Amino acid sequence: MTTKAQSYLTHFRNIGIAAHIDAGKTTTTERILYYTGRTHNIGEVHDGAATMDWMEQERERGITITAAATTAKWKRSGTDQEYVVNIIDTPGHVDFTIEVERSMRVLDGAVAVFDSSQGVEPQSETVWRQADRYGVPRIAFSNKMDKTGASFELVLGDIRERLGAIPAPVQYPMGQESEFKGIIDIVRQRAHTYTNDLGTDITESDIPAEYADKVTEMRAALIEAAAEVDEDLMMKYLEGEEPTVEELVAAIRKGTIEKKIFPVLCGSALKNKGVQLLLDAVIDYLPSPLEVPAIRGTLEDSEETREFPADPEGKLAGLAFKIMADPYVGRLTFVRIYSGTLQSGSYVYNASKDKRERVGRLLKMHANSREEVTELKAGELGAVIGLKDAGTGNTLIGDGDDHVLLESIDVPEPVIKLAIEPKTKADQEKMGVGLQKLAEEDPTFRVESDQESGQTTISGMGELHLEILVDRLKREYKVEANVGAPQVAYRETITKPADVEGKFVRQSGGRGQFGHVKIKVEPLEPGAGFIFENSVVGGTVPREFIGPAQ
Ligand code: GDP
Repeated sequence: MTTKAQSYLTHFRNIGIAAHIDAGKTTTTERILYYTGRTHNIGEVHDGAATMDWMEQERERGITITAAATTAKWKRSGTDQEYVVNIIDTPGHVDFTIEVERSMRVLDGAVAVFDSSQGVEPQSETVWRQADRYGVPRIAFSNKMDKTGASFELVLGDIRERLGAIPAPVQYPMGQESEFKGIIDIVRQRAHTYTNDLGTDITESDIPAEYADKVTEMRAALIEAAAEVDEDLMMKYLEGEEPTVEELVAAIRKGTIEKKIFPVLCGSALKNKGVQLLLDAVIDYLPSPLEVPAIRGTLEDSEETREFPADPEGKLAGLAFKIMADPYVGRLTFVRIYSGTLQSGSYVYNASKDKRERVGRLLKMHANSREEVTELKAGELGAVIGLKDAGTGNTLIGDGDDHVLLESIDVPEPVIKLAIEPKTKADQEKMGVGLQKLAEEDPTFRVESDQESGQTTISGMGELHLEILVDRLKREYKVEANVGAPQVAYRETITKPADVEGKFVRQSGGRGQFGHVKIKVEPLEPGAGFIFENSVVGGTVPREFIGPAQ
């Protein structure tokens, strides 16, 4: 039962956009922000116009490493219903998989973006498995339909075969590659033809005759898939009765939230085709905070657990999921409030650190503005100024409440380390402070000092990860440092014989691993064991193959 106080939550969607690097996540996110009216210029991503990429390096490198939450509004097409869409930024680079883990924890649904010319790439698979692990309902966006080699069928086939999921195409492209002209909405049986590259000139019509048979066939398959998850629809289906659009949408929504079906859409973010329809699908198929299982917490010193349903009038329970140094206001702690209401100026109890903390100001982040608010209610995400001790994954509860720890975030062990020293001895102390601050922001970044030799080593999730942090040390803390050659933070021996054409298929579990990791190897000797360097990070193939195990 939804109470009156909770009713606003039916119009909330907390989503992440997850993808392999280069699949078009940044472009898609940027277009979403454009269409939701918060940004006003459509710019090429890599020339610095990407509004989600706050940090300088991200712009330079063209990758997104923050997990900031951006609040946008979207009016469902054809209705007067306005929705709040919080977009939780998830990084696409494998070295920052911890950031993906963090965001998976705080989002309710995700859009998985695929490059239609590439299908399901290795890292899209990793991200998909993470979403599985966190039970995140998803819709898939087959992007780049305009690109040479683009194929909707390829993406559908890969979802089935590589991800082992049942794709439920709810759209069909009209033309592919340079002939990509528009999108057919299979559910509503309408064709959307784009006549300009800005995506502002769209004609809606009946389905062109050449697509009629294909769409009829796909719609029948969609109804059948939806009927599998919805008894009422199944009754109708068995009686040969056609469901209404509303009934079909409701059944697909149910199947999506139960993670039994995955609606697949198509488009070209770059050419502004399909983004509005994607937003409509986010509203139609992804869950509101009321439709996902309530987060659970464990009472301190006992086995007792407690549920925190999304209710602004309930007990306060929130999770800090991202710490960021902000040039204007200092330390920003991004939080998701699951239950209760967080008030600016109030005191909260950080149950993870056993510390009482004062909440200063509260911010909601929009694409290119910040809004100061006095409270963040259940289901909302925002940034807190003033929390000094809260780290990633920390639980915040009401001051004086029972000590409870929310399900938190898995922190993987670093896989690579290197020695670091300042260029001038005078900077030693400054470097120590800088590294410590950076480590506070990022739990996969570790700093160690050897008392005897006085040597400092840093470790993280990959070379790029450490390179970026050393770069930040220079920019933000003005410390120039020399670094040594990267070493593996741990070495792993895989002794399973190299069978199946030299492929190892490993399941999740163990340190430093994410989800389902496939490692392809060329066996030197059949049956030999292998040692890999840095082989288990998020689905990458081994960086270096050193040779048979001793
Ligand atoms: P991300 O790494 O997943 O964030 O990907 P980006 O959004 O940065 O896009 C990677 C590259 O693909 C950029 O050069 C984009 O311009 C390009 N791109 C993104 N979307 C599309 C699309 O729909 N069609 C084509 N042809 N290129 C696209």
